[in-house]
Amino acid sequence: MSVPEPLVSFRRVQKTYDGELLVVKDLNLDIRRGEFLTMLGPSGSGKTTSLMMLAGFEVPTHGEITLAGQSLRDTPPHKRDIGVVFQNYALFPHMTVEENVAFPLAVRRIGKAEQKTRVARALDVVKLGALGSRRPGQLSGGQQQRVALARALVFEPKLVLMDEPLGALDKQLREHMQIEIKHIHDNLGLTVVYVTHDQGEALTMSDRIAVFHEGVVQQLDTPQGLYEQPQNSFVANFIGENNMLGGTLEGVDAGSCRVRLDDGTLIEARSGCANDAGRRVSLSLRPEKIDIEPQGEIANRLRATVKETIYHGDHMRVRLDVLGNDDFTVKMRYRANRVVPKPGDTLSIGFAARDCLALDAPH
Ligand code: ADP
Ligand code: MG
Repeated sequence: MSVPEPLVSFRRVQKTYDGELLVVKDLNLDIRRGEFLTMLGPSGSGKTTSLMMLAGFEVPTHGEITLAGQSLRDTPPHKRDIGVVFQNYALFPHMTVEENVAFPLAVRRIGKAEQKTRVARALDVVKLGALGSRRPGQLSGGQQQRVALARALVFEPKLVLMDEPLGALDKQLREHMQIEIKHIHDNLGLTVVYVTHDQGEALTMSDRIAVFHEGVVQQLDTPQGLYEQPQNSFVANFIGENNMLGGTLEGVDAGSCRVRLDDGTLIEARSGCANDAGRRVSLSLRPEKIDIEPQGEIANRLRATVKETIYHGDHMRVRLDVLGNDDFTVKMRYRANRVVPKPGDTLSIGFAARDCLALDAPH
């Protein structure tokens, strides 16, 4: 079976603004037709720059971007057939909602009657059908963002780019809009490239996520793949909650390995690192995979001192000092007759080899 051609391809794309520092280093990324792909990473990691090169508002210093197999090199932004939504949605304040949404159609010289039909349809999609004659100043932040979304959808682009579109909204509205945008994506069969620094948002919405760090994609994977098989310590720390312990690799066989911690303890771990003994690695341990005072056989045990306990209803978070990492967190589920640790206690923690992943430093 042949692999379908990607809708978008970044090929060896680099970008520098000052002629020295590469803020996008060597971007190779295929975006599939119909997928919801998120560029996720901390501030300054090159997400917006990558999106702006795809939209046509920035020019790659090196490399090429293709859309449906065609190079975009000589195509100006308004001829790319790409809808764009930014965080500062920049609606025209003196125009009504309908006029704002009609704007891309007017630019494209679409007839008035056709404009009316399409604007009504786009406002319907974002559930603003009744507010077409208002001005932006008469709308809430969430409603204004819906207008921006309708304006990006109105000319029925195959590809929609969104850069932190929900950043200005409060938490509840943001979570609501995440679901709505996802539904619009599914219902219209759009391809969406979405930028956020919020890993929860990325996990909720995306088919695949490209994790950015210092201008380099560290991993491109499904949400589950990123959480369960992070490819390096940056991804493990950025996606979900994570504890790290440093050590030296002693031996690798068939996916498992042994890591010597700095106090001499030998840990049995799953191997997610390069296979040469003597290299420094980070052990990644998720808070929900660690047992406090484990009973019976368990591959790994370490001593810990309790720093703090925090009640969370269905579970308790216990912050520990483990080998000098004093921000080591364990999520403890309640069980009957269980002694609750308190600050100052020393206790043992345990974890299985499969729940402890040895990782390299980021690329
Ligand atoms: P992100 O969206 O991940 O926060 P950006 O792509 O906006 O990252 O920025 C990447 C780097 O490029 C940052 O160091 C930023 O300061 C720099 N940068 C972004 N835009 C410009 C610009 N127009 N001129 C100069 N430097 C810029
Ligand atoms: Mg940005």
